[in-house]
Amino acid sequence: MTYENSLEFALKLDEQDELKSYRDKFHIPVINGKEIIYFTGNSLGLQPKSTKDYINQELDDWAQWGVEGHFLGKNPWFAYHEMFAKPISKIVGATEQEVVVMNNLTVNLNLLLVSFYRPTTTRYKILCEAKAFPSDQYALEMQVRNTGLNPDEAIIEIAPREGERTIHNEDIITAIEEAGDTLACVMIGGVNYFTGQVFDMKAITEAAHKVGANCGFDLAHGAGNIELKLHDWEVDFACWCSYKYLNSGPGGVSGVFIHEKHCNNTELPRFAGWWGQEKETRFLMEKGFNPIKSAEGWQMSNAPVLSMAAHKAAIDIFDEVGMEKLLKKQRILSGYLEFIVDDINSQLTTTDTSLEIITPRNWKERGCQVSVIAHGYGKDLFDELTEEGIISDWREPNVIRMAPIPLYNSYEDIYRFGEILTKALK
Ligand SMILES: *Cc1c(COP(=O)(O)O)cnc(C)c1O
Repeated sequence: MTYENSLEFALKLDEQDELKSYRDKFHIPVINGKEIIYFTGNSLGLQPKSTKDYINQELDDWAQWGVEGHFLGKNPWFAYHEMFAKPISKIVGATEQEVVVMNNLTVNLNLLLVSFYRPTTTRYKILCEAKAFPSDQYALEMQVRNTGLNPDEAIIEIAPREGERTIHNEDIITAIEEAGDTLACVMIGGVNYFTGQVFDMKAITEAAHKVGANCGFDLAHGAGNIELKLHDWEVDFACWCSYKYLNSGPGGVSGVFIHEKHCNNTELPRFAGWWGQEKETRFLMEKGFNPIKSAEGWQMSNAPVLSMAAHKAAIDIFDEVGMEKLLKKQRILSGYLEFIVDDINSQLTTTDTSLEIITPRNWKERGCQVSVIAHGYGKDLFDELTEEGIISDWREPNVIRMAPIPLYNSYEDIYRFGEILTKALK
């Protein structure tokens, strides 16, 4: 598409947008009497207007039924999580038995590593990207230590090449081949939280399997943002949070994927609790753990229903729209943001200032997020953007991360952002 840096053009795109009615289904924060331009749906997605009703439904059932709400409520809590299998499987490209919603993200990452990082004396290494999201780094470090190994010897980190910003997929694959039969597991953030780079998950999984290692992804920045085919790619395991692109509220529940070839394997080691126990025997309260033959067999605790109600409100919107339309708009939106940043950069006249997009320019290697280094600028620039009503994310020393979201951001948002940025740069 040929873009233009004009309000008229942005409004024309909005007019043609088949998802334009969805913006009104979300609360857009108003600050100082003005709707803000919200570009941090990659940190905390906005609240659907329907969320309150979904939560109130469960509060009402609790008030009316007490404990009986587990079976007599409108959405019986006993099986509340089961309502997610179908819609979530469509979002991540899985079968229904391969997914479950439970706990929070880092908790789930740890639970999955218990099952899929099983080091032996010869095969003990785990490979991840350098500068992974800190929570993931801590999880890997302590998983390694808990097996009595030294993280410096067991963890392989793949960094961008000298002078580059993103990682070559081929460098990951070469490192996997080099590690060979010492490699136990690959665990990568499928979409890098900092650069927005999407990794070639299919090729990485294939390479890992070739050397006999398991392969999994943290999809905190992937679920609801990019096209995922976890089942077809034969990914062994994955997890994600629901509060970023999936708009399910602060600290919302997490989702888990365990491939069909593992999720029925009741012999696979794991941590356990009563909610993973076969439903027929769960309430017999007897000795002997017999896990459910599906991803549900990794559940430990009964479902946090209030948090899940918020998730349900958002997931029903995803299910109504479908990933295909979201992906289509996402590409045009992020392309427009890229164009506007480039256009503004080309008008900068001093030699020591520039805007460098560090997100891959190939749309297949990115989702909603566009990350920009503001060379020659400091936090003042960001503060001024915020002052003018743009909510984006600043990472020291000078990186701005922005993620226009197909469900609620408009092309006008991006044009207005450009206007404000141009003024702020002067
Ligand atoms: C957001 C994010 C997290 C956050 O973990 P929580 O357990 O939800 O607090 C972890 N890992 C990655 C890659 C993230 O992007």
